[in-house]
Amino acid sequence: MKLLKSLLLGLLASQGMGIAVNANDLEYWDFDVRQNRVEIVTEEGIRPKASMIANPTRLIIDLPGVNLGEPSISQDSISGYVKEVRVGQFNPYTTRIVVELGQQYSMRPWEVKVRSLAPNRWYVQLSDFQPHSIYSLPAEEQPVAIIVPLPTPNSPVNRGGGRYTVMIDPGHGGRDPGAIGIGGLQEKRVVLAISTEVAKILRQRGFNVVMTRSGDGFVSLRGRVQKAENSNANIFVSIHANAVGGNQSRVNGLETYYFSSGYRLASSIHRNIVGRVSIARNRGVKQARFYVLRKTSMPAALVEVGFVTGSIDNRNLNNASYRQKMAEAIANGITEYLR
Ligand SMILES: [Zn+2]
Repeated sequence: MKLLKSLLLGLLASQGMGIAVNANDLEYWDFDVRQNRVEIVTEEGIRPKASMIANPTRLIIDLPGVNLGEPSISQDSISGYVKEVRVGQFNPYTTRIVVELGQQYSMRPWEVKVRSLAPNRWYVQLSDFQPHSIYSLPAEEQPVAIIVPLPTPNSPVNRGGGRYTVMIDPGHGGRDPGAIGIGGLQEKRVVLAISTEVAKILRQRGFNVVMTRSGDGFVSLRGRVQKAENSNANIFVSIHANAVGGNQSRVNGLETYYFSSGYRLASSIHRNIVGRVSIARNRGVKQARFYVLRKTSMPAALVEVGFVTGSIDNRNLNNASYRQKMAEAIANGITEYLR
């Protein structure tokens, strides 16, 4: 039903009838060099399909019912044997990810599997090819990518005539639990507890704070961006918790993301957490194409406070005083950035 609806709307839109395509969004995609896999975050209900094609060797991942909503994007020379990753609109109702592999790369078609980390998170694992490269080290021994800072053209302008407006975005909610970790710990609960505390601290400091959700309700990604735009927020801070598959409980740590103008904001939050909270591991400030980072017009950052699947992070995130420290550090990072 969903597919048919997207198909019809897609066809109407492609015929220039000016009807917006009401399809699902691709929240995030990335080729994770360290884990040698393609990671995809969609909206719930989307089931990626993967296949291998020869001459040239490439991995195809189709996302039925997903509309990219922007021109094709590609990343070149990702690793020794991944030549390129392209993401584009294959037809009006399918977004296609193509991983272009070197000729010497071989993977049997039946080895290609799509695995699920949560109802909306997927990965497609490539088999190891270069056993002596850094890319095949265990996850905890791999170098952390620190991305070179981008220029920050739009520092926060106070459009509210005095008070800054901060948009706090607790990830997931309602029917979307986000990642589920050890002991059934749900990302949506952890991040709401931290976000509520961040909002409280910032309000005490005189900031105007708006939240995309303040209870356990579902809000679409587009809805989150719209709320930020409608409230003329000066900055957007999304709070999430991480997960990895395959019972890798030794993977723990903090990551903070930006896409374009949010680098300084992301760095300020990250630095304050590292300085104040006893995190399991510093995994760095990184650039990524999360939907809420790409589509917001104000400086935006996304904090992954820890892994609900990690043995250390899981214990910490279950602890109210740890969450309180995390919230204070995030609030300090925001305050430092705005002052
Ligand atoms: Zn999340």
